[in-house]
Amino acid sequence: MNKLLDEKLVAQSYNLQDWQKGYLSQPNEHEYWIDEIEGEIPTGLQGTLFRNGPGLLDIHGTPVRHPFDGDGMVCAISFMEGRAHFRNRFVRTEGFVKEREAGKILYRGVFGTQKPGGWLNNAFDFRLKNIANTNVIYWGGKLLALWEAAEPYRLEPSTLETIGIDLLDGVLEPGDAFAAHPRIDPSCHLDGGAPVLVNFSLKVGLSTNINIYEFSLEGKLLRRHAHNVPGFCFIHDFAITPNYCIFFQNAVTFDPLSFALGWKGAGECVKFHPHKPTRIVAIPRTAPYKEVKVWEAQSGFVFHHANAFESEDKIYIDSICYDSLPEVEPGADYKETDFEALAPGQFWRFALNLQEGSVGRQMIESRCCEFPAIHPDKVGRPYRYLFTGAAAAHNPQGNAPLQAILKLDLHTQERQLWSFAPQGYVSEPIFVPQPNALREDEGWLLTMVYDSSRHRSQVAILDGRDLDKGPIAVLHLKHHIPYGLHGSWTNQCFVS
Ligand code: FE
Repeated sequence: MNKLLDEKLVAQSYNLQDWQKGYLSQPNEHEYWIDEIEGEIPTGLQGTLFRNGPGLLDIHGTPVRHPFDGDGMVCAISFMEGRAHFRNRFVRTEGFVKEREAGKILYRGVFGTQKPGGWLNNAFDFRLKNIANTNVIYWGGKLLALWEAAEPYRLEPSTLETIGIDLLDGVLEPGDAFAAHPRIDPSCHLDGGAPVLVNFSLKVGLSTNINIYEFSLEGKLLRRHAHNVPGFCFIHDFAITPNYCIFFQNAVTFDPLSFALGWKGAGECVKFHPHKPTRIVAIPRTAPYKEVKVWEAQSGFVFHHANAFESEDKIYIDSICYDSLPEVEPGADYKETDFEALAPGQFWRFALNLQEGSVGRQMIESRCCEFPAIHPDKVGRPYRYLFTGAAAAHNPQGNAPLQAILKLDLHTQERQLWSFAPQGYVSEPIFVPQPNALREDEGWLLTMVYDSSRHRSQVAILDGRDLDKGPIAVLHLKHHIPYGLHGSWTNQCFVS
């Protein structure tokens, strides 16, 4: 091995072969009380952490082209009086059930998975396989697995058994989309200070319809309005303030021909335009919903926003930005990702001037990060602490797998970082406030960590005030869970 390569390997916090193992399928479903625990589970931590993500990275031995095409598998980790119970179940979507019966791939995946038989067997097949793999929320007494291009699937929270497609008491029509990134306004001024769930759906064509929905704590529809935005939109997430829903219309176009002819998956037909601006659209949450504001910012690609808030004549929005869309190359193997060749996600603050229509932007954190999280009571409000998955301590610059949890004090710029490198790979952190907490960072961060040394996953609990001291508790699962996407916390515990 030459010296240069040798030095590079020594400096790396990760090993590609280790990282790849976190993308092996987990076909088995488990339920058990977790009995291998380092440290102690805080007794004040009572409730359930729900997680969703691709459980199958192959369908009867044929690999999916991209993890985003993997069938949704929901995990529930229930915390009760210092103990923790684990359960995982696949969402029995129509596609999952039919493919299991057939023993082969029956649907095209959005991110490039194709039916066997080449393009001729894929051409003009526009059916979507709702894989329900992106997020899971408990709201209005329902546990819902979400995938942004189709309807939610409802699950039984105590068993994770699939009940079926849920049209939210008639709010959705069959076939409607419902985004996977709902935001919970902790205290909505339109509803007497009650918590409200806000979400959106897109109907994409030459122009795009953005539908916005707001639901009460009981799951009843409070407000619904639709807006037309010129051009194609690829909008995965949004942010809210008390008065606005804010969307980033990334500078992308869609080539329908390659999709229609069966040459590429829909996601592979999205093209990023680095010289075109990102359009930022703020839609009012208050009737008559007419005063839509639009800004243009320097191009870049955003999947996730951390938060937004209003202050004087500005809306601030904090987002993870990439210099360009990590495009899905047809034929490329996601497991061979060359991290160093890809632009890292970095944390930026945008200031949208409501009077002048100008946009300011500032990079706050250059370390590669993804999956931002904050205190749930600070959604849409000024806040102080950002928590996010991040590259390990060894990797302050450039792209790398997420191996650490970063805490950023936005008032003092102080940073704390706990790294699970070299053999741990983190998922999205979820912040759970401590009961009767006085400080914004007084709570626990829960994150699922893939431990490549044992090919098993663990749930790590970190102290929100002090990440540097390491996990308060590490709960070792008996198996691995493939890298997940999103999840949520509820104070309800579903284990008897
Ligand atoms: Fe997401």
